[in-house]
Amino acid sequence: MPAIRTSAKAALFSESVIREMTRLYLARPESAGPGVNLAQGFPDFAAPEAMKEAAVAAIRGDVNQYAVTWGAPSLRRAIAERTEARYGHRPDPDREITVACGATEAMMAALLALVDPGDEVVVFEPFYENYGPDTILSGAHPRFVPLRAPYWSFDPDELAAAFNERTRAVIINTPNNPTGKVFTRAELQTIADLCQKWDVVAVTDEIYEYLVYDGAEHVRMADLPGMRERTVTISGLSKTYSATGWRIGWLIAPPEATDAIRKVHNFLTVGAAAPLQEGAAAALAFRESYYGELAHSYSAKRDTLLRSVRAAGFVLPDPPPAGAYYLLTDASALIEGGGFPDGDSLARWMVAEAGIGTVPGSSFYRPREDGTNPGAPLIRFCYCKRPETLALAERLLSELPARLAARRSSRSSSAKDAA
Ligand code: PLP
Repeated sequence: MPAIRTSAKAALFSESVIREMTRLYLARPESAGPGVNLAQGFPDFAAPEAMKEAAVAAIRGDVNQYAVTWGAPSLRRAIAERTEARYGHRPDPDREITVACGATEAMMAALLALVDPGDEVVVFEPFYENYGPDTILSGAHPRFVPLRAPYWSFDPDELAAAFNERTRAVIINTPNNPTGKVFTRAELQTIADLCQKWDVVAVTDEIYEYLVYDGAEHVRMADLPGMRERTVTISGLSKTYSATGWRIGWLIAPPEATDAIRKVHNFLTVGAAAPLQEGAAAALAFRESYYGELAHSYSAKRDTLLRSVRAAGFVLPDPPPAGAYYLLTDASALIEGGGFPDGDSLARWMVAEAGIGTVPGSSFYRPREDGTNPGAPLIRFCYCKRPETLALAERLLSELPARLAARRSSRSSSAKDAA
């Protein structure tokens, strides 16, 4: 018997596969040769100089004690100004904005503040891995609604059937991880209508709000008619300013919701790192051109990796999804070609034997009772990488078909020997 009994809640979810894949990548011996980690979504290039300088200046200037628990005034002001510059509406920094330790904490704080045990939360599937544990930790029961390949849209009737008098919240992530989908205004309106019908709060994770390509538009749920008063908008520094390690995110919500969120946030973490909040405030004041250049550079990265993964046999729709920085591919041909049972084993083999870190699609789906998983044939790649990394990825991916063929033939000859 172990000396310490662990909670029933903690037993209901497992380790993050995304972060596990990064650890497997890092555990490769040097003798394994060059590799690329296209698993966890973090850039391998430098964060903006001016943002880093502002944080360094804050440390040297002794901004080293607790900030105001719901966020340094400079950062909350900067969030209000950036929101107004982009979307034409200025949230009140004193009553509607809360700074948290990343969008991750923001989502947890929002659910703990707004949802009671036994309530239902609607979650689109495939989903960003954290939403499963987030709903479990808040005591809620997730109701999954499928997004279907190739364009990851939902069936309005299926969505409507997921709402009822127990529904308290719906989580929407647009632009979306893992699919890259950008929800259209019409889709968001369908969700908004249900929120209004059933008195439900929309919790929207918009961490990729600036990463949209091919003329796609990021529409904020809060900007749809009647939705500002029932939407919690979450975003952060990690993706737009290439600083996933700073752990700064924020929530914009109506004042009463903000009061509850701030209380939860206060007791979860007290607050985000004070000097980094000053760096973040400087980043949010970047000129508008910064965002256009960011999206332009990411769309080129997407096209590069898209060519490489398609050439290796992974399948994506045409045109590909127009947001975030992921490619969720159908790997059926490679799973079969290499003699693997599913994408999990292909992904684990790829990281160990081919030097390519990815995430198996199964981690974005809940396992079914019969043991099947709709994500089993899928593999996710991220492309937030330097051109050199993407060039190496191209080379390693081009070697993949031959490696898979070799694996298959060595397995069939050992099977013959054993027979
Ligand atoms: N939300 C989504 C949809 C993500 O993809 C990620 C990171 O990959 C996060 C939240 C995490 O954001 P943060 O680093 O601000 O906690």
